[in-house]
Amino acid sequence: MIYPIVLYGDPILKGKAKEIEKGTIDVGELSEDMFETMKAASGIGLAAPQIGKSWKMFVVDTSHLEDEKVNDFRQVFVNPKVIEEKGKPWNFEEGCLSIPGIREEIKRNGVLRLKYYDVNWEPHEDTFDGMKARIIQHEYDHLTGTLFTDYLTPLKKRLLRAKLSNISKGKIDIDYKVKAPLKKINYVNTI
Ligand code: ZN
Repeated sequence: MIYPIVLYGDPILKGKAKEIEKGTIDVGELSEDMFETMKAASGIGLAAPQIGKSWKMFVVDTSHLEDEKVNDFRQVFVNPKVIEEKGKPWNFEEGCLSIPGIREEIKRNGVLRLKYYDVNWEPHEDTFDGMKARIIQHEYDHLTGTLFTDYLTPLKKRLLRAKLSNISKGKIDIDYKVKAPLKKINYVNTI
C-alpha cells in the first residue's frame, strides 16, 4: 500500500517517535508498505513519521542507485538507537521526501554505531560509514523530530522561508502522493 508522504509543516515531523512494542504492530507489513511508498517517490530512505505514524522505525533502499559502493543496502530498522557517532565530519547535499525541491549541504560525522532490531525482531549492533551512515543519520533524525533544515544557518533558513511556506501549503509540483498539513484559516483577516 502506498501512503501519502507527510509534508514539511505537519507537527508529526517535529514530534518524538514512540518505541514499538513487539507484537503490537506488524513491522513486516509496515516495512513493505514503506518500501513501496519510498520507491514510488524515488527515495532512498523513509521514516515512519513521514507516512503519519509516529513510531521508531525507518527503511533504507539504495538498490536503484548507480553507485556500486552503496547500491546493496536495503534494510529495515526498528527501534534504532545511536550508540556512538564519530569520524571526520563531511558535507553532503541532502534532500528529503517531506521537503521536496530543496537540497542543502549538511555536515555530519562519518561513522555511526547503531543498535536496532530487524524486521524479524532480531537485535543487531553495527557500524556504518560513508553514504550508509549518512542515510541512517538523516532517517534517525526524523524519529527525534529533527529535519535537515534545522541544521541550516538563520540566513539560509530566511532565504528558504518562501519555499518552505509553499511546501507547507501543498503548493508544490511533484509526482508522488503527499499529504499537506491542514490549512489554518485566519477568519479575522478574511473579512
Ligand atoms: Zn527526510
